[in-house]
Amino acid sequence: MAETENMTITSFDEMDLSKEILRAVKDMGFTEPSTVQARTIPLMMSGADINAIAPTGTGKTCAFGIPMLEYVQLKDSRVQEVVLAPTRELALQIGDELTRLAKYITGCRIAVLYGGQPITKQLNQLKRKPQIIIATPGRLLDHMQRGNIYLDAVHTMVLDEADEMLNMGFVKDVTRIIEATPVDRQLVLFSATTNQDVLTIAWKYQHEPVEITVEATKKDRPQIAQYVIATEQNQKIDHLLYLLDADVYQRIMIFCNTKFMTDRLTSRLKKEGYQAECIHGDIRQSQRNETMSGFRKGKFPILIATDVAARGIDVDDVEAVINFDLPPENEYYLHRIGRTGRAHKHGVSFSLVTFQESVRMDEILRYMIAKPLPLHFEDGVLRNQDGTAFFEHI
Ligand code: ADP
Ligand code: MG
Repeated sequence: MAETENMTITSFDEMDLSKEILRAVKDMGFTEPSTVQARTIPLMMSGADINAIAPTGTGKTCAFGIPMLEYVQLKDSRVQEVVLAPTRELALQIGDELTRLAKYITGCRIAVLYGGQPITKQLNQLKRKPQIIIATPGRLLDHMQRGNIYLDAVHTMVLDEADEMLNMGFVKDVTRIIEATPVDRQLVLFSATTNQDVLTIAWKYQHEPVEITVEATKKDRPQIAQYVIATEQNQKIDHLLYLLDADVYQRIMIFCNTKFMTDRLTSRLKKEGYQAECIHGDIRQSQRNETMSGFRKGKFPILIATDVAARGIDVDDVEAVINFDLPPENEYYLHRIGRTGRAHKHGVSFSLVTFQESVRMDEILRYMIAKPLPLHFEDGVLRNQDGTAFFEHI
C-alpha cells in the first residue's frame, strides 16, 4: 500500500493530538516533529500497520509512543498495547520516554518488564493493571507462561529495533508473542535497516502494511564529525589518554568489543585517576541501571560499554564517542557513533585504528558512505593530515 498521508505536516498542532500530549511534548522541549514522527504519527493513529525504517536518533520512540498514548483506553484495565525491545536498557529508556509523554494522562499505567529483575518485583507492577507493557521478549513470554499476563485484548503491538531484536535470535519468542495477540491487532515495526527476518514477520503478520522509509536528511541526520586515528595496538591506551587529557569533552562513551576489554580499560582508566564506569552483559542489571543513570546525570564523564549493553540507549549530550576497538558489524559503527550528535546537536567520534584494522575501517566507511578526517600522532601530538595540531582547531 502506498503512503498517502499528508507529507507537509510541520507541527505537532496539525496532528490532531490531545492537549495532554501537546503539553507533555512541549515540556520535553520539542518544537516540531522529526520527519519519522510527521510521517508515522497520523498513520499509526489511523490504525494502519506500519513498517518503518529510519536511521538512529531520528525520534522513533515518540513516533510510536504518541499514537500509543492517544489510543489508550484508561477505563479498560487489560493490556492494550505492547512494545517489544531487544535489550533491558532500551526497554527502560522507552518506559522513561513514554512516562514523560504520559505525564498529564491520569490513570495511564505503564509497566516495564525485562530479564534480570526479580519476577516478584515485576508482579507488583502487574498488580496495578498496566494498559501498556514494554518488555524484552524472553521476560514477557515468561510472564505469559506463568499466567501473569494475557495479550488477548491487545490493540497495538510495536517491535522497536525489530532488525536487531530478530538478529539477536528472538525470532521464535517474538513470533509466539505476536501469535498470542488478536489477529486484527495493529502491528508496527521500527528498524534502522531492514533484513529478511523483518520482512518475514511483516509478511506473516501485517495487514496491508504501509512502508515508511526515512532517509537521513540534513535536518535529521546526526551532525557527527568522524575522525580516524592511525595508531598501533600497544599505543591505543596512550592515545586514548591523550584524547581524554585534552579535556575538551565532558561526556564520553568508549566502545570495546569484549567484556574483558571493557573491564580492563575501565580499571586502567580508574588507576590513571579518571572517573569511568562500564556496562556489559556480565554486570548485574541493577548495577547497570545505576551506572546508566549516573552517567545520564553527569556524575562521571566516561562510560565504557560493549555494543549489546549500549544498543539503543539514548544519553543526551554525549559529546564524543571513541571506538577503542572497531566493531565487528558495520551497523554497530552507526549505532555507536549515533550516541552523539543526537537531537540536532553536534557530535564527534574517534576510531583508534591499527594498520590491521584499516581494511575493516574502509569497509565500515563504504557502508556509511562517509569520508572521515584522518588524524595521526607525531611527536606525541595528535595532528591533522597537514601536520597542524588537532586540538588547536576545535
Ligand atoms: P531513535 O529511536 O530514532 O534512535 P529516539 O527516539 O531515541 O531516536 O530519539 C532521540 C532523541 O531525540 C531523544 O533524546 C528524544 O528525546 C529526542 N527527540 C525526539 N523527538 C524529538 C523532536 N521532535 N524534537 C527534538 N528532539 C526530539
Ligand atoms: Mg529507538
